[in-house]
Amino acid sequence: MEQREIVVVGAGPAGSTAAIALSQQGHDVLLIDRQTFPRDKPCGDGMPVGVTEMVYDLGLKEVFDQADFYPIDRVCLVSPAGYIYEGKLRMGKQGSKAHVIPRLQFDALLQAQAVRAGAEFFQARVTAPIVENGQVHGVKAQGAAGLLEIRARLVLAADGATSVISRALQPQRPPDVHRAVALRAYMEDLEVRPHQVEFFLHREILPGYAWIFPMDAQKANIGLGMRLDKFRQQQLSLEQLLENFLALPFMKERIRGNGRLHDVATWQLNFGSQKRLQRAFDGALLLGDAGWLIDPLTGGGIENGMMSALLAAQTAHQALQQGDFSRRMLHGYERACQAALWPVMRRSYLIQRWVLRYPWLLDGLIKYARNHPHLTNIFLAKL
Ligand SMILES: Cc1cc2nc3c(=O)[nH]c(=O)nc-3n(C[C@H](O)[C@H](O)[C@H](O)COP(=O)(O)OP(=O)(O)OC[C@H]3O[C@@H](n4cnc5c(N)ncnc54)[C@H](O)[C@@H]3O)c2cc1C
Repeated sequence: MEQREIVVVGAGPAGSTAAIALSQQGHDVLLIDRQTFPRDKPCGDGMPVGVTEMVYDLGLKEVFDQADFYPIDRVCLVSPAGYIYEGKLRMGKQGSKAHVIPRLQFDALLQAQAVRAGAEFFQARVTAPIVENGQVHGVKAQGAAGLLEIRARLVLAADGATSVISRALQPQRPPDVHRAVALRAYMEDLEVRPHQVEFFLHREILPGYAWIFPMDAQKANIGLGMRLDKFRQQQLSLEQLLENFLALPFMKERIRGNGRLHDVATWQLNFGSQKRLQRAFDGALLLGDAGWLIDPLTGGGIENGMMSALLAAQTAHQALQQGDFSRRMLHGYERACQAALWPVMRRSYLIQRWVLRYPWLLDGLIKYARNHPHLTNIFLAKL
């Protein structure tokens, strides 16, 4: 049986960010993922400028800039009746920009940086936390050599929307209004708007939307997402809803040739729209999607996930220094998440419910937004 200082479960943006931050401080970190990298993750691949800023701060500026990822500087919102709002996105620190980056590449970049910073990577499927007298003491994992127990002073659960750690520590599932499902595909031979992300606020899928996020001159990440309760209330699958979207006259005009779709994948989203959700437990913290931190209006979760990881790393560092892994000590993480993320999350949830109740007002709002560009920032701050 192994004994580690910190076990991070999941090497997505949240887990790798936490592993980088803690390894850079000299801690012993075991980073576990059930997959090897590079690996895909269903996503719109939209990275707001805040993500680039954090990536730079994690020591990746040179590598990131050299990779020449596809930058985004404009946004377009299309209302249910077809009104269009176009606006500019802000630039961040050190000239950083928003991007569309396939998760295949982005996540591998962060995972490799975690290893470079000193974290040990281990491919295994975590099956459950080890819980003794109410305290988490590590994880049980299925690796190539069989089932093993890895003990740790602290477990950071960043194993995504289907987190086994989160389910074990918090068995009651939140209602469907706090969850969503989404489909992502890549499409070749599509006329894209260069360096502009497009959101289509169609009545059929509100308060969700369809998106086209360009990746180069003729290729885009394309998809749509819906709140889970609304999805269950209608009869169509996400694939059929996407077909309907692609069959709209203005879309047909933009598709060249066969408009080949590939890598179609669906996944779930855990919204951060519950005010008081426990994210700190005796011996464990929940980060990123495992901690329900996706913006309930935009569906963006990468920036919030990375922010939560940095906050978790701060709390973990203090806990290790004090040798105290009780919920009382770790509660600082929960408070920090609440302070940093809840105000935006709350606003997004209010707008989301408002959009659902009064969809017709969206048309007026988008017309109004043409003269009030700060609205773009509300929608796109977290993408
Ligand atoms: C279709 C879709 C489109 C989206 N578009 C966007 C977007 O454009 N921009 C944006 O910001 N957000 C978007 N999101 C949300 C975003 O994908 C997530 O918020 C983000 O991936 C969360 O990162 P994470 O590190 O918490 O979890 P994940 O990225 O899900 O990473 C979790 C990791 O844990 C591993 N894992 C899971 N279970 C286990 C286990 N039992 N044992 C070991 N390892 C395990 C997985 O292999 C994975 O590597 C979208 C989501 C969906 C579904």
